[in-house]
Formats: sequence, C-alpha cells, structure tokens
Amino acid sequence: MRLSGKTALITGGNSGIGLATAKLFVTEGARVTITGRDRARLDAAARELGAQALAVEADVTDVAAIENAVARAAERFGKLDIVFANAGIPGATPLGGTSLAAFEQVIRTNLTAVFFTVQAALPYLNDGASIILNGSVISVLGNPGFAAYAASKAGLRGMARVMASELSPRNIRVNVVAPGGARTPIWKDTAPTDQAMAVLEKRIAAATPLGRIAEPEHIAKTVLFLASDDAAHIQSAEIFVDGGATGSP
Ligand code: NDP
Repeated sequence: MRLSGKTALITGGNSGIGLATAKLFVTEGARVTITGRDRARLDAAARELGAQALAVEADVTDVAAIENAVARAAERFGKLDIVFANAGIPGATPLGGTSLAAFEQVIRTNLTAVFFTVQAALPYLNDGASIILNGSVISVLGNPGFAAYAASKAGLRGMARVMASELSPRNIRVNVVAPGGARTPIWKDTAPTDQAMAVLEKRIAAATPLGRIAEPEHIAKTVLFLASDDAAHIQSAEIFVDGGATGSP
C-alpha cells in the first residue's frame, strides 16, 4: 500500500476527481478528510469511503471554514502528509457578457481559496508532505468563454512554484496536476442532458490525440503518484493528464 499510515486532505472530495482520488487513497492505506459544500453528497461519499474517512462541510471561499476543516482533520487523524487542493468551478466568463461578481467568484474559488487552503494546512503539515493543486489544460489551450477559469488555473502554476520555493527547506513538495476533459459532474451546466454530454464527449475526444475523454480515475492515479514517495524528487512540476491534448499543434 503506497500511502500506508499517511493522512490526507482533499477539498472537493465529494464528487468527480476528488472523490475518485479519496477512494484510491483509502485503498492505498491513507486516512482521508474530504470537504465540500453539499452535505448530502458528503454523507454519501463518507459512506462509500468508510471508517478511514472524515467528511467536513466547508466552502473553500470561506477562510474560517477551511481553517476549521483542517483543524478537524488533524484532530481526527493527526498531522497531514498530503493536501489535494482540488475544489473548483468552471464558471463561464465570456468577453462581453460577464459581471465582476461572476469573474471574481471563479478566481476566488479556483485560485485564492487554494492559497488559503495551503496556508490553513501549514501548521498541521508534516515535513516531507506533498501538496497537489488541480490545474487544467484550459490554462494552456485557451478555450473560448473561460477567461477567469484559464487565468485561475494558470495562476496555480505560478503559485505552486512560489510555494515550492518556500516549502522546500522542509522537504514539502508542491506540484500541479492538469487534467484534460474528464467525465465528471463539472459539465452539468454546459451539458445538462445525456445527449448533450454525449456530444460534448465526442468533441473532447476529437480534440484529444488519444481519442477519448478522461475518467476521474486517470487523474486520481497521477495524484496518487505525486502524493507518494515514488515522486520524492518531483518539485514544482505540472503534469498534464490530457491524452495529449496540450501536446498536439
Ligand atoms: P465536480 O463538479 O465533480 O467536483 C467539483 C468539486 O469542487 C465538488 O466536490 C464541489 O463540492 C467542490 N467545490 C466547488 N466549489 C466549492 C466551494 N466553493 N467550496 C467547497 N467545495 C467546492 O468536478 P471535477 O471533479 O471535474 O473537478 C475537480 C477539479 O478538477 C476542479 O478544480 C476542476 O477545475 C478540475 N478539472 C476538471 C476537469 C474536467 O473535465 N472534469 C478538467 C480540468 C480540470 P460542492 O459542490 O459540494 O461544494
């Protein structure tokens, strides 16, 4: 078991990539605290994960709520070895039709909250810990309508490098995983019906050299690698899990 005896915090752990990662972490021997806003989905996830998991309701844009979640995680399972700052929203922000509030909500959730999650975790982090931030190929591909999202995810790239510089003396690693399109509930507003989702999946597959949409488990396995001692010498890297989408001209 690659995470035997380790403790982890996963924001947005009640759905999609976060939940797939939480399941994998538990299978690999970790004790995991997941957070999210939706109580029903948190409870369902906690039932699936079993006694090695704790589910705490916390909005990542609320610094006090995140501080409380981190303190509860440490109280239950001890100091943290892994933080996966994963919670995020797509938030369409097309040029010409976007309010300041809508733009700021995306930046606050996907970028600002990541900084404050790591800052809240800092007093509880073991030396040698691994921090993984969830980026996106959109920070490179520049898909229309996602200016705030692309900016927030590109911001993580720079932020990870600064955090890595500051935390290297404690052998704490900070890396970014950058998924391509993955089959999760994040698309529910863009593609609300099964039919619309099927069309979207085809579009993503066509733009992906490997010719398919990712499953959440593809991303989770890369997060597991970055979290584990197998990645002991990987610092301030960004790993694209995108079927080649950012590699093609
Ligand atoms: P989901 O919608 O399945 O998961 C998003 C998670 O974020 C949920 O657990 C949600 O929980 C949580 N979340 C959102 N806003 C907040 C908030 N304010 N406070 C606390 N939790 C919040 O989508 P994914 O699993 O796909 O997304 C996870 C990450 O992966 C995101 O950062 C996303 O940008 C990134 N990503 C996803 C891709 C994809 O194609 N799926 C591609 C590239 C990157 P709740 O609603 O309960 O708060």
